[in-house]
Amino acid sequence: MKVTPLGLLCEPGGFYVDPSRPVERAVVSHGHADHARPGHGAVLATPETLAIMRARFGEDRAGDEQQAMAYGESVTCNGVRITLAPAGHVLGSAQVVLEWQGSRIVVSGDYKRRRDPTCAPFLPVECDVFVTEATFALPVFRHPPDSHEIRRLLDSVALFPERAHVVGAYALGKTQRIIALLREAGWDRPVYLHGAVEKLCTLYESLGVRLGELLPVPKGLKRGHPPILAGEIVLAPPSAEATPWARRLADPVTCAASGWMTVRQRAKLRGVELPLIISDHADWDELLETIEEVRAPEVWVTHGRDDALVHALGLRGVRGRALHLVGRGDEEDEGAPEAPPTEEEADAARRGAPS
Ligand SMILES: [Zn+2]
Ligand SMILES: [Zn+2]
Repeated sequence: MKVTPLGLLCEPGGFYVDPSRPVERAVVSHGHADHARPGHGAVLATPETLAIMRARFGEDRAGDEQQAMAYGESVTCNGVRITLAPAGHVLGSAQVVLEWQGSRIVVSGDYKRRRDPTCAPFLPVECDVFVTEATFALPVFRHPPDSHEIRRLLDSVALFPERAHVVGAYALGKTQRIIALLREAGWDRPVYLHGAVEKLCTLYESLGVRLGELLPVPKGLKRGHPPILAGEIVLAPPSAEATPWARRLADPVTCAASGWMTVRQRAKLRGVELPLIISDHADWDELLETIEEVRAPEVWVTHGRDDALVHALGLRGVRGRALHLVGRGDEEDEGAPEAPPTEEEADAARRGAPS
């Protein structure tokens, strides 16, 4: 396995994992834009990830040759055995398990350990080298239970029936997870969608994830039309609340669902009234717990707070190596790709974080 400007290259196998630019042969862990790129020759991924790529890039840009492989299935490519294991991150997300000459490396992509009603749970695979992200690799990042955050949202809706609640969430994965969590919490009213998140919700439903009644936010209202959707919940991409689109809504309460909401400064900067800490990435405890479970003597860190994680691993006798992969970002914060928290933000979070 080699680190190249295009990303991780499996040299003997002749393919890249999540390459940042079009290549001849790619294995793609999941559909987020910093992992799945259009224009590859051959693409190996789960059927769900391929469907997401087709929906995002168009039929002809999702790979000339698309090879769908279900979790647990294997294929051998130039002597390298490739298996996909669930990563628990978004629908179809996979860890890429590579075996060659008796050693096993697991490229985990992005992952989380919490239950997510919209995708299969992460499966730990023991290995010699574990490749991990480190988006939230600081001890201040301990995500609270999702049910707690969803309850805060529903409490706010009950408290402000005259206002619309706009939840800014990433279009792939987070949006559908929040809707599913709302359903589990008993919210059976229609959930309203911004146009930019509709397509992926429809795709999730076609792939068997049930989201209940979804309605588009009404468009084309006449000038002077009274504000709409008081008492309702609207899902929209992050920052949509700052656009003219939001003006039609009844005095919207701006909510954002992201692991970054632990950093109160970020919430404040973005004008978020109700920050919800709901993340599709592992928090500090989940990272360490996972690395222990896979029992890898060596861990490679793709991006994020690699310094903190490599240090913590060293104390546990695990060899850590920072890869500094380029182009790998954080889909939870679209405005700021590749933006690990600054020291100041970490400090502020430490002071403000619930114990
Ligand atoms: Zn991702
Ligand atoms: Zn990512």
